[in-house]
Amino acid sequence: MFYYEPTVTLLARPAFVEPQHLPVNWIGESTDGERLAEFAGRLCYMSQRNPASRTTRDYLENIKRQGHGSVLEHASYSVLLEGVSRSLTHELVRHRAGFAYSQLSQRYVDESQANFVVPPAIVGDEALEGAWRGQVEGAQRSYVTLVEQLMERYGWVTDKVHRRKMAREAARGVLPNSTETKIVVTANARAWRTMLELRSSEGAELEIRRVAIAILRLLQAEASAFFSDFEIYQAEDRREAGRIAFHKV
Ligand SMILES: Cc1cc2nc3c(=O)[nH]c(=O)nc-3n(C[C@H](O)[C@H](O)[C@H](O)COP(=O)(O)OP(=O)(O)OC[C@H]3O[C@@H](n4cnc5c(N)ncnc54)[C@H](O)[C@@H]3O)c2cc1C
Repeated sequence: MFYYEPTVTLLARPAFVEPQHLPVNWIGESTDGERLAEFAGRLCYMSQRNPASRTTRDYLENIKRQGHGSVLEHASYSVLLEGVSRSLTHELVRHRAGFAYSQLSQRYVDESQANFVVPPAIVGDEALEGAWRGQVEGAQRSYVTLVEQLMERYGWVTDKVHRRKMAREAARGVLPNSTETKIVVTANARAWRTMLELRSSEGAELEIRRVAIAILRLLQAEASAFFSDFEIYQAEDRREAGRIAFHKV
């Protein structure tokens, strides 16, 4: 199977439990994640009374404008990414601060039926796509042969799980960067903002840029006050890109 688009699924969002002894005078619609951040910000100045009569959206807008982004760190969102390539996740995991990852293991999981992600720049050109498919399918055949041969070579290893792991970890060396993978990514809203700013920009690699735009849309729908200053636009290269008003809060 060949992937032409990623799948991004929200797995987890914050559940805010307001303490009865410190109620906030909330104004306007908001989600648990946004309230958690506002609660944390207001605690700093004990301003739960909300003297400026700000909506949660306005309050968080001001937090971003002032660069007090540390309160955004309380709200974490987890997403499941599927239909993304190993080259994408190699770039993604460079984002460290505030991020957690769990990725499909090529040592434990058999890749003889693995799927592949067509690089966005190749999509739509039949000749290029045909040549690319030939290469990745050939690599997969080599992988299958190598696993079989390595299982024979290490036949003396009695623990079959360990033997399979030895075979797969060596054979995966011939699999291409385009091999599909799955990864669970958790990050707080501040960390997501930094990653999305960098990876939705025109300078980012096309596949991770496409994923960043998809995650941005999902998080904007989920907790718009955290991501309202991002704008998605059509770039000169005819692909979507993102830009932000408040850089690295
Ligand atoms: C268009 C593009 C091209 C790239 N090309 C390459 C490339 O060719 N080769 C390559 O290796 N990488 C490349 N990268 C990855 C890049 O160098 C970063 O590793 C990646 O963007 C993660 O950024 P970060 O370190 O700011 O993120 P995070 O690790 O999430 O850190 C976020 C912020 O926290 C602070 N921080 C985190 N860790 C530390 C620390 N140890 N000390 C001090 N402050 C810290 C910094 O302010 C940092 O910006 C590229 C990235 C982009 C967007």
